Amino acid sequence: MKKLTLLLVFLALILAGCGAAEPVEADLFAMDTVMNLRIWGDREDLRTATEEIHRLDTLLSAANSGSSVSQLNSAGMAKLSGDLLTLTRDAVSLSEKTSGAFDPTVYPLVCLWGFPSDEYHVPTQEELDKVLPLIGTEHIRLNGDAVTLDPGTMLDFGAVAKGYTSQRCADLLLERGVQAALLNLGGNVQTVGTKPDGSSWTVGIADPENPTDAIATLTFSGSMALVTSGGYQRYFEFLGNSYHHILDPETGMPAENGLASVTVLCDNGEIADAYSTALFVIGLDKAVEFWKSQNDFEAVFIMNDRTIYATAGCSDLLGNCEFTVIER
Ligand code: AMP
Ligand code: MG
Repeated sequence: MKKLTLLLVFLALILAGCGAAEPVEADLFAMDTVMNLRIWGDREDLRTATEEIHRLDTLLSAANSGSSVSQLNSAGMAKLSGDLLTLTRDAVSLSEKTSGAFDPTVYPLVCLWGFPSDEYHVPTQEELDKVLPLIGTEHIRLNGDAVTLDPGTMLDFGAVAKGYTSQRCADLLLERGVQAALLNLGGNVQTVGTKPDGSSWTVGIADPENPTDAIATLTFSGSMALVTSGGYQRYFEFLGNSYHHILDPETGMPAENGLASVTVLCDNGEIADAYSTALFVIGLDKAVEFWKSQNDFEAVFIMNDRTIYATAGCSDLLGNCEFTVIER
């Protein structure tokens, strides 16, 4: 799986092209994935972004027993501050906004399926029925900066951590006066500013069947986040069936609705990340209704049969594929 992420990073980089001045560049491993940072700035800018990623990784990984999230999950209560307070508040509101399709309390289900430990297990309905009552943001009680989780409820920011982090890095780099940056956090892409040669960003959308290839490209300018959620990104096989990591909080099962992936284009990384997960859970028809009700994102949907749909606001940006436009 890590090899796959490395190739995805590589793919996005090839497609991104180069500006006139050479960027500084770093590869790093964090948040369980390979990342690549390209910054049209100096070494200090690169160090700032790298340190921010490692700082947030230490804070946010539910699977790392030393992280703040993991400590909150064990203690069931904590006084929150800084990023963790922001993320918890944001996650609750994004969950409400997506009618629970994005749900930061899925961790007990994620563990039941064995994703954090790589010791995979297909749960019985009885096992799911025991865990499902722990899921839902009504089990998170936020009172000012104090949070209490109902017994057994645990938080997982896995569906927003990379988007939140790429947005934080983008904000820090803009504050530092960086002209342009391309941040690829394991397939979560964040662009910052404009390259010195003024050319647009072109980023590949991975082919779900062969993720080292691009099935389409999106070309745009300025500071944007482009986040893809797909079953192909993490899954296991058991008795001839495939089970992926994006769970429907209502059933506890991997979401299956004909979608192979959803890519969200949005000016905020955290929102793009939460939405891509949520839209993957609810499926194309409900995702289109959701898009019609919001005006803060565009999306590209790849179906299992490889047909592609794009919302009207990004249809002009999509290239190298045939697709159907979804009108508002
Ligand atoms: P992403 O790749 O951003 O769609 O996030 C998927 C990860 O978020 C999974 O590996 C789980 O840790 C977690 N997750 C799975 N299903 C959900 C869900 N419905 N809502 C929020 N987080 C989820
Ligand atoms: Mg996500």
